[in-house]
Amino acid sequence: MDWRVRFVDYPEQWRRQRAELLPIIEDTIARGDLMLRQQLLDFETHLAAFNGSARAVGVSNCTDGLRLLAHALDVGPGDEVVTVSHTFVATISPFVLRGATPVLVDIGPDHLMDTALLADAITERTKVVIPVHLNGRTVDMHAVAKAAASVGAVVLEDAAQALGATFDGRTAGTFGLASTYSFYPAKMLGALGDAGAVLTDDEDLANRLLRLRDHGRVAKAELDGWGYNCRLDNLQAAILDYRLTKLPGWIERRRELARRYDERLRDVPGLEIPVGPDVDPLRRDVYQNYPVTTDDRDGLVEHLRAAGIETLISWPIPLHRQRGLDLDHWNLPHTERLCRRVLSLPMQVELADDQVDLVADRVREFFGAR
Ligand SMILES: *Cc1c(COP(=O)(O)O)cnc(C)c1O
Repeated sequence: MDWRVRFVDYPEQWRRQRAELLPIIEDTIARGDLMLRQQLLDFETHLAAFNGSARAVGVSNCTDGLRLLAHALDVGPGDEVVTVSHTFVATISPFVLRGATPVLVDIGPDHLMDTALLADAITERTKVVIPVHLNGRTVDMHAVAKAAASVGAVVLEDAAQALGATFDGRTAGTFGLASTYSFYPAKMLGALGDAGAVLTDDEDLANRLLRLRDHGRVAKAELDGWGYNCRLDNLQAAILDYRLTKLPGWIERRRELARRYDERLRDVPGLEIPVGPDVDPLRRDVYQNYPVTTDDRDGLVEHLRAAGIETLISWPIPLHRQRGLDLDHWNLPHTERLCRRVLSLPMQVELADDQVDLVADRVREFFGAR
């Protein structure tokens, strides 16, 4: 397929960053700085500062970040973990694999956890509440904090899609005990492979995670408990440290692209688009994705594909409708409806204005809008 607009354009990304990235990669390898070296420490320092968190712990991926947190919090059988079904399976799997029971909450019109439903979902058994800041937009963290506090539950933020997003003036990931990030290549801040991080203001927890990610080591030959191998590769950290310097500009560009889509699509009948970047005074969205919804979703996907425009349906089947996960006792009508109707339009820093215009024109054409 000869795409005119890719959903994510890795070759173009590399073309733009090659001149600056190659010397960084060369230098890191030439020094032999491959595991737990200065580049990782630098990245952790810069990442924590970027987000306004006290500490950052680099890990192998976001899923492993959640796994280490589930271990550190001693989550186990009898514990309930409250989150959504409309998310990546990794939000839930580390807790289920430790024996905890997921409690799934339906979503609101912005595709995020409907916090009005939390009061019914939370019980004395709730150990952890995990708001997922999907698509670069934050969950109502005041409501989450209040509900969790009512039973003394811990809040962990799955901020894999929301680095730099804010709610009520605070960055995502600074509300809960800890937050997890993914640097999977397609994420806003992407590595050239798998990578992730946990951010927290809790020094003891951060130090615990440092040991857990490296076999329980406190020193080269000294262990203080069982642990995992969930280290963030030093080379990936060096790449991420460079890309982090670009992130503020990338976020601005994403917001500009969202504004452009918004101007061109807001009046299309039968199509719902995300909240525009200048609309919600409580939130600064970073547009990891630009999801739109419509009744004839599959028709729109096909229409765009035929025009050479690549789109993405992140989760056509919600977690509670996946065979084999034993979650099918949940009844979440809004989640199911969204999974039938949603698709994401191309949204990446490498998009040119005229590519957005092309996508918008083809979308309008599909709906017969002039
Ligand atoms: C990408 C993603 C993850 C998992 O991240 P990995 O780094 O691939 O483990 C978890 N949650 C959400 C919401 C994600 O989008």
